[in-house]
Amino acid sequence: MSVGTELQTRYEAVIGLEVHLQLLTGTKIFCSCSTRFGDPPNTHTCPVCLGLPGALPVLNREAVTMAMKAALALNCTINPRSRFARKNYFYPDLPKGYQISQYDEPLAEHGHVDVELNGARKRIGITRVHLEEDAGKSLHEGFPDSGQKSYIDLNRSGVPLIEIVSEPDLRTPEESYDYLTRLKTLMLYLEVSNCNMEEGSLRVDANISVRPAGAAEFGTKTELKNLNSFRFLQKALAYEIDRQIEVVSGGGKLEQETRLWDSREQRTYGMRSKEFAHDYRYFPEPDLLPLVITDEWKEQVRRSLPELPQSREERFLRAYGLPKQDALLLAASRTMADYFEEVVKLSVEPKLAANWILNDLIFLLQENGKGFVDYPVPSANMAELLSLVSKETISGKMAKDILAEMVRSGKRARDVMVEKGLEQINEPEKIAAVARQIIAAHPGQVTQYRSGKTATLGWFVGQVMKATGGQANPKLVQDILKKELAP
Ligand SMILES: [Zn+2]
Repeated sequence: MSVGTELQTRYEAVIGLEVHLQLLTGTKIFCSCSTRFGDPPNTHTCPVCLGLPGALPVLNREAVTMAMKAALALNCTINPRSRFARKNYFYPDLPKGYQISQYDEPLAEHGHVDVELNGARKRIGITRVHLEEDAGKSLHEGFPDSGQKSYIDLNRSGVPLIEIVSEPDLRTPEESYDYLTRLKTLMLYLEVSNCNMEEGSLRVDANISVRPAGAAEFGTKTELKNLNSFRFLQKALAYEIDRQIEVVSGGGKLEQETRLWDSREQRTYGMRSKEFAHDYRYFPEPDLLPLVITDEWKEQVRRSLPELPQSREERFLRAYGLPKQDALLLAASRTMADYFEEVVKLSVEPKLAANWILNDLIFLLQENGKGFVDYPVPSANMAELLSLVSKETISGKMAKDILAEMVRSGKRARDVMVEKGLEQINEPEKIAAVARQIIAAHPGQVTQYRSGKTATLGWFVGQVMKATGGQANPKLVQDILKKELAP
């Protein structure tokens, strides 16, 4: 569905995103049960996370520290005192009948993230970052009687979450995509969450409305749920914007509702059930003291933050003179950025290292189904290969073949060269012999060169390289040809 660009330009979309992130603590937020994903159902439970009467929650300090890391990296102000609240609603995977969350006194507020589209930077406000517990999971599939029954797994009940709520500052699906990508990169850098959408450790809901371009008032918003990839979210937003414009421009009225994205049909649809209706009643959690963050604790957390992607990108531009796109790509992954810097420390020219990592190495790793964490080419091996390239001991073409073998077998560059007989021809006599043959066979080109068309030299170099299967040292080839071609 598309309403056409003419209509689209007359309206403006207003988008706000709510991101739920599971924190990477070893234990749950209010008990000492394990947070490990994928274990048999209901094996990580206790009276607290089962919601048994009389069980009392005890706050996990590590969860607070991780939430503070996230909040500080998002430029938020950490409130010295925040409070937990009970969010009441009934759902089978919520054994207590309420979720412990934060309401009017959240952990942190007033932050921002900068997005960048087509070179233009824009600041997106972060309303709040708060701590809460995850609910259990209903299992509707995979059992012989799944047609009649649903099952409950409470392993997830009580896993620590942070909710990151943005201001309604986003205007397009593309901005929203960029915002989420930057948020995820940031959280991966901080190592506070694995951000795995398939396992549900990162979940996104979107609030969206449209209004006539330039209007100050907000239109009626809908909430999009069930967005299990950033690409789906981008598509769902684009669809929903068009749908709302169509309704509003046709004089219709939008209903405030929750809608789900159907990736097969590529459309959103309204939920018939009222199970997500927002009539939560909140009240202060009487079993937990207010959360007090001392300046000392806050400063300790601030000092523990790693260099963040944006400042790393800027440093890569400044310190190594990398092209902007290279700096951006390298800094987008902490492991890749670390790897790059390790290679450069072993006295490899930064641009050469960036080029090889971002092109050949990434491509080969993907082709071999390997990630950047368990990859088989340690930085020292990469540096060795690249020093052979920069000394022109091997040609670029040979280096590519060698690297492919290094990724496959985990061997070092020199060993691969010896095995494959890929060593460069560095003996002047051998090269001179080939050069003389080629000169003798092409008198026309020789005359051209001698009459001042020095560009012909390149053609001769190419012929010698071809004749030696690319193994001749190109620098030597050039020197020898000049000598041999001299009148
Ligand atoms: Zn427990």
